[in-house]
Amino acid sequence: MSLRALNSSPEVQRLNTFPIFMRVEGEVVVVVGEGDEALAKARLIAQSSADLRVVAENPEPALEAWADENGVEIIRESYRASHLFGAALVFAASGEAERDARVAADARAANIPVNAVDRPELCDFFTPALINRAPVAIAIGTEGAGPVLAQIIRSRIDRILPPALGRLAQLAASWRDAVERIVPRGAARRDFWKSFFEGEPARAVAAGNDAEAERAAERLLSGAPAKGHVALVGAGPGSEDLITLRAHRLLMEADVIVHDALVPEAVVALGRRDAERIFAGKRKGCHSKSQNEINELLVELGRKGKRVVRLKSGDPLVFGRAGEEMAALREAGVSYEVVPGVTAAFAAAADFDLPLTLRGVASSMVFTTGHDLKGGALPDWARLAIDGATVAVYMGRSNAAEVAQHLAEAGLSPDTAVAVVENASLPHRRLFHGTLADLPGLESREDLTGPVMTIIGDAVAGANFRNSEPIARRQGAESKLERTMR
Ligand code: SAH
Repeated sequence: MSLRALNSSPEVQRLNTFPIFMRVEGEVVVVVGEGDEALAKARLIAQSSADLRVVAENPEPALEAWADENGVEIIRESYRASHLFGAALVFAASGEAERDARVAADARAANIPVNAVDRPELCDFFTPALINRAPVAIAIGTEGAGPVLAQIIRSRIDRILPPALGRLAQLAASWRDAVERIVPRGAARRDFWKSFFEGEPARAVAAGNDAEAERAAERLLSGAPAKGHVALVGAGPGSEDLITLRAHRLLMEADVIVHDALVPEAVVALGRRDAERIFAGKRKGCHSKSQNEINELLVELGRKGKRVVRLKSGDPLVFGRAGEEMAALREAGVSYEVVPGVTAAFAAAADFDLPLTLRGVASSMVFTTGHDLKGGALPDWARLAIDGATVAVYMGRSNAAEVAQHLAEAGLSPDTAVAVVENASLPHRRLFHGTLADLPGLESREDLTGPVMTIIGDAVAGANFRNSEPIARRQGAESKLERTMR
């Protein structure tokens, strides 16, 4: 399509303002005004290395205090045109229509671009919502159509950018000459910078290790192949907005995402569209990959130089077999990191308004599982429960009766409160409540097909049972428990 055709096509919306980045280092920027509007603009300009000058005959205390703190000069004179002399930019921020108009007219007469706060008709330029990771700047504008929208967009973008982005860009600038000398222009150079900004140098800067970042850049420049990296990332309990910002960022950078059965599609979909996805589900009863195979897969991907996200439900270090994966990676010399996530017990507690620790009632907490029996017997966390600990049982549906019996035998009252959540944090979650005596009934509930978290203890009595239904009882298991209790 020719340029003319493109320009005249009805879909192309033209901007009435055109974003540029203006050099202001050492240039004078004048703000005229005493109050909040002037302070807001002064703050904005102070993010640059411009020479800021505020003209305010009677500055309000907030402006005065800020100027003091930031070493900004206030000219305490009534405004006159000569105050604008030599300025590169002018802000009319007095809050008074007449004075702002005068400042704007004076600026225009002197050919200085001017912005008048909240008076678009007087503006030559607008100030963007700004994300400052100097030297990286992201400016968002709406031509005044929606300043609040600009702020919303700003915070969304801000969230996904690593805090150390500025330092990384500075590092890149210091390597630019060397790269241009050594790496041929075109695909090779693009690949170099991609590995620089998303690979080892970026990781080292993010970890605050600038010396290592320098070394990594040097290695990259010497032509060493990019090293792989595996992030063991907690995906949270299921709801895609319960993952951390770091997890989100890593997902968007990953070449490969290796995910578990419990991680919903919506969370995996936060990754790049062209990322390779590998399902490593290990659902009870249908093992699609053994733990050893997963360990080997991660090592192999790391050795191939891939950036891998190993996505696990909840927190990777809670019943996630991350220990084995980390050991395999360490042994193979593949670098890795761990990103925590919201574990299922916390999500279940939140769904139930359930305080896991409660002053004077519960001051410790047990994360346990209904499986993983050592020598056929449950480990002895029951005593802790008797001392008031809140017990969170992972994978506890199919042996709920055994868990209940274990606690009962240890002497925990059958009246102790129990809360159960299926699919915690998700819209289709289901909540159940009851007592320890009811717990065995869970085993016979064929309708519970999602993951189930059980929380037991006196603190559970403080939960909100308005959205929950009773746990159904199952005769067999219950009588077994009752026999034990008798
Ligand atoms: N690493 C995970 C736990 C993995 S073990 C974490 O920190 O949460 C798998 C068990 O976690 C399930 O059997 C179930 O007991 C629990 N679980 C995981 N997600 C859950 C959810 N959304 N609701 C309830 N329980 C959940």
